[in-house]
Amino acid sequence: MMSHSNPQDTAPQPTVEVGVPRQSNLGLIASLVHHHGSLSRAQLTRRTGLNRSTVGTLIGQLVGLGLLYESAPTGEAQVGRPSPEVRPNPSAAALAVNPEIDAVTVGLVSLGGNVRKKIRFPTDRIPTAREAVNIAAAVIAGMRSELDSAYRIVGVGVAVPGLVNRSEGVVRHAPHLGWRDEPVAQMLAEATGYSCRAANDASLGAEAELIFGAGAGMQNLVYLNGGASGIGGGVVVGGKLLAGASGYAGELGHTFVRSEGRACHCGGSGCLETEVSQGPLLTLAATENGGDAVQFEEELRARSSRNGNVEVLRQLEYLGIALRNAVNIFNPEAIVLDGFLGILHSISPETLPRLLRMQALDGPADQVHIYRAELGSDSMMIGAAELAFAPLLADPTSSVIATPLRFASP
Ligand SMILES: [Zn+2]
Repeated sequence: MMSHSNPQDTAPQPTVEVGVPRQSNLGLIASLVHHHGSLSRAQLTRRTGLNRSTVGTLIGQLVGLGLLYESAPTGEAQVGRPSPEVRPNPSAAALAVNPEIDAVTVGLVSLGGNVRKKIRFPTDRIPTAREAVNIAAAVIAGMRSELDSAYRIVGVGVAVPGLVNRSEGVVRHAPHLGWRDEPVAQMLAEATGYSCRAANDASLGAEAELIFGAGAGMQNLVYLNGGASGIGGGVVVGGKLLAGASGYAGELGHTFVRSEGRACHCGGSGCLETEVSQGPLLTLAATENGGDAVQFEEELRARSSRNGNVEVLRQLEYLGIALRNAVNIFNPEAIVLDGFLGILHSISPETLPRLLRMQALDGPADQVHIYRAELGSDSMMIGAAELAFAPLLADPTSSVIATPLRFASP
């Protein structure tokens, strides 16, 4: 995994637009601690630009709300009185749901972005929206006593491989799942009693990598995720996820890469998603599914080295065309590749940088670095949880976490 420099204390912080109210100072402190895991009072004072006593008062309020806690100072030698460390309270948590063509995954994610639990429920066929909601609700019901005893759940975030209207929580079209106009957030809220929000899975993956992963501290990045349900993308410009008019922006899987390419379900042909896909790689790796990512990667690496990398290089060539376009259009600092795209890149890490040097414009190509996503299979869980945390982080005094939650058995 490639490394990059960590953001400095003074670096501008990424702010991800998620359709929630403007953040208060209380929310700013909660978000900083949530995103960084641990910050001293002195660091919070520097980063917020607020005065020291105000920061102390706000931290006190957030501790009182059960969102943060303070612990004894660690490490960092300081002149004068040591500054206590402020950390996210792990009992404040969100649930994450990710329906795919072969499984529904439910996760429990603490404030601070730590995945506490992840349950992948395989399905023998593509689940309908109703079936996916019922599975998620049943898994959550099974976790209920643990949730009640150890956590306070702020809500549920759903990461869907398809076009999702974020403000309404409606899946406009998820082609691989065969869903159209499904009000998934409302359905899941009714089935679980929790407040629910939904968004495109790759957008959420991009946000997760921006906040906690390979894109931490960056302002401009292009994220691409390859999974069983095709290729999704997210573009971050100036620290904000590019939404477009309706929140559908970033569908890099349907950029044009091959003039004689195959027809795509989107109505076009020669899309990145039709030329670069997991299926032929699973065949090459002689694996039945990509569920066990480590095994898939090992097999693919071993077999592609024996077979001269032909399929891997073919797919990287087409991925390179899509990345050339993205680099020329968005001038990102980083391209973050997740899922099987990250595996492809890691098998032949010199190929994509070489293609970009040859094909993209010199200026943007000189600046861009290609990273493999760092959060692995957790990125969708962490991104979906971010969706659930967003209203709370915008206004920590909102009743979201304090309201007793009704629970309807599925
Ligand atoms: Zn397409």
